Amino acid sequence: MRTEFLEALERASKPEELTKDDLTVLISADKEESAELFRLADQVRSRVMGDEVHLRGVIEFSNYCRKNCLYCGLRRDNSALLRYRMKPDEIIEGARRAAGLGCRTVVLQSGEDGFYSAQMLAEVVFRIKKELDVAVTLSVGDRSREEYALFKEAGADRYLLKHETCDAKLFAELRPGTSLKGRLKRLRWLRELGYQVGSGNMVGLPGQTAETLAGDIILMREMEVEMAGIGPFIPNKQTPLGSCKGGTLEMTLKTLAAARLALPCVHLPATTAVATIHPSGRVKALQCGANVIMPNITPLKYRESYLIYPDKIGLNDTPEESYSRVVNTVLSAGRSISRGYGHSLKYERKCAGI
Ligand code: SAM
Ligand code: SF4
Repeated sequence: MRTEFLEALERASKPEELTKDDLTVLISADKEESAELFRLADQVRSRVMGDEVHLRGVIEFSNYCRKNCLYCGLRRDNSALLRYRMKPDEIIEGARRAAGLGCRTVVLQSGEDGFYSAQMLAEVVFRIKKELDVAVTLSVGDRSREEYALFKEAGADRYLLKHETCDAKLFAELRPGTSLKGRLKRLRWLRELGYQVGSGNMVGLPGQTAETLAGDIILMREMEVEMAGIGPFIPNKQTPLGSCKGGTLEMTLKTLAAARLALPCVHLPATTAVATIHPSGRVKALQCGANVIMPNITPLKYRESYLIYPDKIGLNDTPEESYSRVVNTVLSAGRSISRGYGHSLKYERKCAGI
């Protein structure tokens, strides 16, 4: 094993001291080094976050999007996609189903769909929070500060807005008409408004290097995020990046493990994307630092149309089937299901007055 790799691993005992160079070295691990990296990340996850896995039920309530991100199947110019929108009552019914299955968090996700006014979404959040004993995460993209404030007042607990890549030039190319600066500004607003904030990045974007991925982790440490969604980029033929290579399982796991070392108390999901590129992707991610899974609770009739990338797993599963598959995955990894909300550790300590 390289000396610089062993030195970086040693520095991981003080996560705040891990530098971008250290993380680059970790992410560039060879096979033998990777085994060591994964072992340490799993140890840190177990010690800091425990062995329980939090299940967050995702309802993909609209696939309309005004944006045109080069990597995403929901992009405005993808005319091959059948578009749908769920009505507020349908979204609330979906949340009931998720809660009934045992999810203590409901994630409402969509393309950037102006059809849903802030008032409309705030009302959905308010009704869910009033009726069900769940935390609510929103993931509806770029909105104004006032709109984020309205969702928060209605009871939203968390917001997921991935920064996607820390490379500002690449970000601007991949998300036409937007900037990394604008995305980070929104993440700061969300923090100021009192949300538990989730960000994250894709692994394997064209032009990305191990150094970029290390930069993604450093950025999330600087932004003090509470959740980091790190998953592989999967090329979609119906987008301009259709012929790109995409992220590998190996690179995704190394980035995830390095993130666990640098961000020990952050929630890290074993993503649907990692499960899509490899049949054991989620189990492997759970063994490399992950402690969250997001079962898909979207009604069956809409699933095929929320096609961000091809061959997404579970397209023919009912919410009940998705949930039980995820439970089996967790148990097969030797872990247990959390029955708590899975708030951020920072938030729980604040509530306990620590
Ligand atoms: N519209 C919102 C946004 O962009 O923040 C939320 C929905 S968007 C579909 C959710 C996530 O999908 C994005 O943050 C992005 O990381 C991921 N995504 C989009 N296209 C992808 C692809 N081809 N491969 C992997 N992940 C992808
Ligand atoms: Fe729209 Fe989000 Fe897809 Fe970009 S990533 S096209 S904003 S759904």
